[in-house]
Amino acid sequence: MIDNPFGAAAATPSDDVPAPSALGRRTLLAASTGLLGASVTTSVFAATHHHATRLSPPHALGAPAIVGRASAPLPLVMLDPGHGGKDPGAIGVSGTYEKHIAEAAATELARQLQASGRYRVAMTRSDDRFIPLDGRVEIAQGHRAALFISMHADALHDPSVRGASVYTLSSGASDAQTAALAQKENDADRFGGPRVHATSPEVQAILSSLVTEETRRGSAHMASSVVSSFGPKIGLLTHPSRHAAFVVLKSAEIPSVLVEMGFMSNHLDEAALRQAGHRMMVAGAMRTAIDHYFASGPGVTAYAG
Ligand code: ZN
Repeated sequence: MIDNPFGAAAATPSDDVPAPSALGRRTLLAASTGLLGASVTTSVFAATHHHATRLSPPHALGAPAIVGRASAPLPLVMLDPGHGGKDPGAIGVSGTYEKHIAEAAATELARQLQASGRYRVAMTRSDDRFIPLDGRVEIAQGHRAALFISMHADALHDPSVRGASVYTLSSGASDAQTAALAQKENDADRFGGPRVHATSPEVQAILSSLVTEETRRGSAHMASSVVSSFGPKIGLLTHPSRHAAFVVLKSAEIPSVLVEMGFMSNHLDEAALRQAGHRMMVAGAMRTAIDHYFASGPGVTAYAG
């Protein structure tokens, strides 16, 4: 009943995210096992026995189906590993691709969330493929996700800056560094070719104005949950909660955050994020933040079913 969500993503069980030189081998491995052809855009798991649209048959033959006050479905958390396919994202000082870090970390977080039994989990991609930013938003909306988390490890101009940070949507940026980051992230759609329209600042302002106040509060609540759960264990930027016009965060009804787990432009962050143990710790902190988000605060009822 449960699709294997990991497919090609499970090709990184070791500590090391594959360096660019290992890509050919990885692709061949995936192709030889049929994973590339069989992969789908999204994978939902931990969903089977709680999903509202799948009523279980009654225990006794001939008994009427119980319809109505069935147990509420678990909230669906949509994880969005940044970049993918022809878009590598940032490339680290020693050659690590952001897209691989994002996918490996999201896969680990999906595993932890699923193991908790508290959520349904889906990923916008579970293999190395390109998805336009609008497409990521549409996938989350199509699944009626209760929470959307985009996972990244971008690069900054200043290689000395290290630490995690979390971003929410607004038409204006909280600071110049975040404005540059959002511009670079939004530029990812250039990999999709000329068909994908550019998003002007005016369009972004209109989009962010469509986000409901409840969604905005939910996003802010999730951002503060991430900051407090990261705080003790994982280094944070000085002002770790920031905002700008990130296109991928524009869902009107789904509280959305973008988490920078660290920066590929910093060699210590890059080295740490290459380690499965560190990614497990980051995922653990994010799981704690998600638990806190759903246990309290505003915005948690949006799209809950
Ligand atoms: Zn990124």
